[in-house]
Amino acid sequence: MAEDNTSADEIAALHSNCSFAQLKLGQFHEALEDADKTIAAKNDWSKGYFRRGEAHFALRDYSSAAEDYAKASELAPEDATLKKRLALATEAMDGFYFRQLLPGRDICLAPANMVERQIFSSAEQMQNYIYLIGDARTRECVVIDAAWDVKGIRSVMAADNMKLVGAVVTHYHFDHVGGVPPPPFNALGIKVPGIFEIATEDRVKVYVNKTDAETVRTKCGLPAESLELLEDSAVVSIGSVKLHFIHTPGHTPGSQCIHVPRKDGDLLISGDTLFIGSCGRLDLPDCDAKAMFNSLQKKLASLPDSTRVYPGHDYGGPYTTIADEKTRGLLKNMTESHWLKMHHRF
Ligand SMILES: [Zn+2]
Repeated sequence: MAEDNTSADEIAALHSNCSFAQLKLGQFHEALEDADKTIAAKNDWSKGYFRRGEAHFALRDYSSAAEDYAKASELAPEDATLKKRLALATEAMDGFYFRQLLPGRDICLAPANMVERQIFSSAEQMQNYIYLIGDARTRECVVIDAAWDVKGIRSVMAADNMKLVGAVVTHYHFDHVGGVPPPPFNALGIKVPGIFEIATEDRVKVYVNKTDAETVRTKCGLPAESLELLEDSAVVSIGSVKLHFIHTPGHTPGSQCIHVPRKDGDLLISGDTLFIGSCGRLDLPDCDAKAMFNSLQKKLASLPDSTRVYPGHDYGGPYTTIADEKTRGLLKNMTESHWLKMHHRF
C-alpha cells in the first residue's frame, strides 16, 4: 500500500514538473495535458490544480483557471499565491486591469545600492502615484507616469502576467517622467529612471500631449520616433479598453488627463491637474492660472459625477470623485475672476 502511494506521488511530481516546463516553453496545451495527468495521479494535491490553473490562464480560459485556483486554494488554504492567482483570473474574466502603485508600498522597496536608496527615499517623499491600466483578457497594459523605479514597475507587471504596450505621460515634470531633477536636486548628480528606460529598453511608444512633447523629449533624451503626439480628444485603445485623452493646460501647457469610460463607473487619471481638494502648482514659470480654470471648470467638471478621479500624487488618499470635487473642491461652481483672485492673478 505504502509503495503504491509513493509511486503515485512520484508520477504526480513528474507530470507537475513537466507541466511547469511546458508552460515556460510556451507549450500551453501540453502543459494542460501534464497538469491533467498530475491531478489523475493525485487528486488531493493542490499543485496539480495550480498547474492546470496556470495552463488555463495562459490559454486565456480564465473561468477554468479560476475554478482550478479555487480548488487548489481549498486544498491549501494557507497558500497566499493561490489566492492572488484566483483574484487575477477573476479580474481577467471582468476584462479590466488597473493598478495604482505608490513608492514605498508597491515599488521602490529594495534599493540595490546607495544611489537607488536616495532615489527611492525621494520617491517616498514626493508620493507620486504610477498607474497601470489595460485589458485583463489580452494581458496588455500601459504605464502612466513611469518614474522612480522602472525595475519595480516591470516586476509588478510580470507578477500579473501583463505585457507593456505603451507609456503615457500626463505632463513633463521630472517626478512623472524621470531624468535629471531640477535645482537644487540636480546637484546630487542623480538621474531618476523613467520614460527613457521604458522607451529604449521596453521599446514601446510614449503617448504625450503635443504641447509638452518637445520638453519631454529633450528633458528625457528620447529618440523622436518613440513619441506619439496627442491632440485634445485623442483616443487610444488597449485591447477593449479605451483611453480618452483630455488636454488640460494650466499646471504645464501640455498637461493631459486620461478618461476611461467603464460600465461600472468611469475613471479619470488626473496627473497634477486635479488633486483631492486642490490642483497642481500654478506658481512655476510655465503655469497658467487662467488655462487651469478652463481645464477644471469647463472640461473636468463636465465628466459624469460618479467618475473616480485618480491623481498624480498621494495628497490625502487614493482617489476622489467628480461629485466630491464639485461639492468640496476646485470643481465647485465659481467665476473666473474669483478663481484668478484666489491665485493672485488680477
Ligand atoms: Zn507636476
